[in-house]
Amino acid sequence: MSFCEEVKNELIAIRPQGCCKPSYAYGFMLFGRSFSLKKISIQTGNQNVANAYCEIIYNVYKIKPQIFCGGSVRPTYRAEIESDSDRLKILASVDFGVAENSIDRNFFIRDCCESAFVRGAFLACGNINDPQKEYRAEFNVKNGPLADELSCLLEEHGIKMRKAIRKTSVCLYTKESSAVEDLLTFIGAGKKTLDIIDTKIMKEVKNNINRARNCDSKNISKTVEASIRQRTAIEYLEKTDRLYSLPQELLTAALLRRDNPDATLKELCRVSAEPLTVSGLNHRLNKIILIYEKDKK
Ligand SMILES: [Zn+2]
Repeated sequence: MSFCEEVKNELIAIRPQGCCKPSYAYGFMLFGRSFSLKKISIQTGNQNVANAYCEIIYNVYKIKPQIFCGGSVRPTYRAEIESDSDRLKILASVDFGVAENSIDRNFFIRDCCESAFVRGAFLACGNINDPQKEYRAEFNVKNGPLADELSCLLEEHGIKMRKAIRKTSVCLYTKESSAVEDLLTFIGAGKKTLDIIDTKIMKEVKNNINRARNCDSKNISKTVEASIRQRTAIEYLEKTDRLYSLPQELLTAALLRRDNPDATLKELCRVSAEPLTVSGLNHRLNKIILIYEKDKK
């Protein structure tokens, strides 16, 4: 399964709250292939996505879209609302005049509904690359005005996307790992965000170790490797918001290491505000690594 499929499966598994259901369905439909009186449909290579689309539309409107399967090389699924009167019923729930190129914000009752809306949009037209290879998340939007409105909405939540005009669509994308993380967190794929943070830290660690391997002295490299393991654990705890809930003695040790990344244990003891021994400090830092490793299992 691709990373993108895994992300989408995680998103589909989220059960939207009552207030969010209409905006989730709306995001899904608006960013699908068509959303007009003539046609309301999505096309996807992921059968789970097609099923989720049908499910939420049935849930909100009591209308059952039809699923068609095609594609010669890879299967594609098209879910479509066939009857004129059903499409009319759905479009009557949005601001008619702007149907296909604007976001009707009346759907957003609370903040959670905005996140559900973007989740639907991402399922309909989003893509994300495997962070092991490249940090990249994107939305392929069918027209420019709609892309601009989505871009504004995301920016209101601190997520900045870039825009690229393509032949038949407008692509909103980001290659910033932090924006990819923020986007996934915003739409509810928290587990995948942690995967990305982890991959990023591991990449950094590998680079640092390679750098350290080139050092002349074995001792220097040993110190650096130990420091990197400690910093990896501390950085992870910080990014997952757990650093400051560590017991005070561990927190002191963690902050000391974080703020003096290149120092030896001896040097850390020297700059510490409270008296510390090398073995005592080493013991505390090892405890932090244990917490990190236990969490990773
Ligand atoms: Zn809501």
